[in-house]
Amino acid sequence: MAFDVDFFVIGAGSGGVRAARVAALHGAKTIVAEQGRVGGTCVIRGCVPKKLYVYASRFKDDFADAAGFGWSVGEPSFDWPRLVAAKEKEITRLSAAYRANLEASGAELIEQRACVVGPQRVKLASGEEFSARHILVATGSHPTLLSGVEGLEHAISSDEAFDLPFFPRRLLVVGGGYVAVEFASLFQRLGSKVTQVMRAPNVLRGFDDDMREGVRAAMARAGVALRFGCLPSRIEKRAQGELSVALSDGANLEVDQVLVATGRAPNTNGLGLEAAGVALNPLGAVRVDPGLTSSQPSIHAVGDVTHRVNLTPVAIREGQALADRLFGQGAKPIRYETIASVVFGTPELGAIGLSEAEASARFPNVHVYKADFRPLKATLSGSGERALMKLVVDGSTDRILGAHILAEGAGEMIQLVAVAMTMGATKADFDATVAVHPTAAEELVTMRAPFSHSEDGVGQA
Ligand SMILES: Cc1cc2nc3c(=O)[nH]c(=O)nc-3n(C[C@H](O)[C@H](O)[C@H](O)COP(=O)(O)OP(=O)(O)OC[C@H]3O[C@@H](n4cnc5c(N)ncnc54)[C@H](O)[C@@H]3O)c2cc1C
Repeated sequence: MAFDVDFFVIGAGSGGVRAARVAALHGAKTIVAEQGRVGGTCVIRGCVPKKLYVYASRFKDDFADAAGFGWSVGEPSFDWPRLVAAKEKEITRLSAAYRANLEASGAELIEQRACVVGPQRVKLASGEEFSARHILVATGSHPTLLSGVEGLEHAISSDEAFDLPFFPRRLLVVGGGYVAVEFASLFQRLGSKVTQVMRAPNVLRGFDDDMREGVRAAMARAGVALRFGCLPSRIEKRAQGELSVALSDGANLEVDQVLVATGRAPNTNGLGLEAAGVALNPLGAVRVDPGLTSSQPSIHAVGDVTHRVNLTPVAIREGQALADRLFGQGAKPIRYETIASVVFGTPELGAIGLSEAEASARFPNVHVYKADFRPLKATLSGSGERALMKLVVDGSTDRILGAHILAEGAGEMIQLVAVAMTMGATKADFDATVAVHPTAAEELVTMRAPFSHSEDGVGQA
């Protein structure tokens, strides 16, 4: 049977663009449909603008640290509209680069919403239909707001936070996950008075407990007011535009903005997937097999819409693997167990593999190595910053099961630890590696004796 196209990709975000480009380069006739801006969440309202704002926020610490190194810095001031405009220029450039790369690959971009109307049929918002040998659902995810909060329409999600028309002097961040922590940390440094509330008893559920404690302490040092075990119950808009928020613990807050970052849900609503034979999980995510194919053999899914590991490099790797498998020489397997992730607070938290608690639940003989120290820079700056590093090791095989780093530059460090762990590194490999001095990372190769809980968190080096 002849099809209009070999590959119809819905969504030009991280996963969709990579899959479309690779498929087109393999010679497949490819169309990608995008309803918004090319580049998707990561480029337009996720990783990239977020990291630019994190950089902006850290000048606050640099100005404060400078005096200890002999500098006199005048009273710094910050201009929010200038940052927003600079960010906009950069993401516009990136989006254009994505578009140019798509064009260069030979894939056709159609800027419209698309949905599935059959196992091998797609319909555009214009009504035009295409038959396709394979369909890829790469539609990503969207922020979910809390339910049952009166006045929630006055709150914003991370989508709107990047382009606020005015800078919120007082900000309430709701949520304890990585996006909430990052926004609380960066807005506090840019000059907001931030309160962060969450249902959980601590930030960053799922991360190693020592690191969660370290992040909580760093947030508090930066001035973020943290409240655990509570959520907003009512948000009221006052005549002057400020928001009055009633919290479930009985407190009331006056703020300029409420940012809800409590989670994300896959974009599958109204896509026609179930009618086309695609099974979704209870959260609405597309269920895929290890080859990234859904329960309908001609329909595939990658990235956030599958709601497994919601990170850009994962969506990209999956897009590449799928296109290679369908149209190329076959795909290399994706190593999901050694995917590192970073929380871009200040300092950063980089993590890979198992936390101490996860490892202890799965392995009978777990050794933990820890370092908790004052970074060299903090000695002269006088800041209260601490660095925390932890290796979780299978005592029976000596294999590294997890690595956790809370320190300046942790994102850069954990990427390289990920290479070692992907190669199956053991603690003995770390021990045999000569340190780079003076760095914070050298602590990773100089932790000699397993941590004993009686030692009160002091590093082993
Ligand atoms: C605030 C924030 C910070 C983040 N920070 C990081 C980070 O530091 N590191 C990291 O790795 N990840 C980060 N992420 C996660 C990352 O952005 C996502 O995992 C990644 O973008 C997922 O890629 P994707 O291709 O699955 O979806 P997306 O990039 O979201 O792309 C999906 C695209 O599909 C389009 N679309 C949806 N439905 C349709 C339709 N019916 N028709 C046509 N087009 C459609 C959308 O408009 C969108 O452009 C962050 C996310 C957020 C929200």
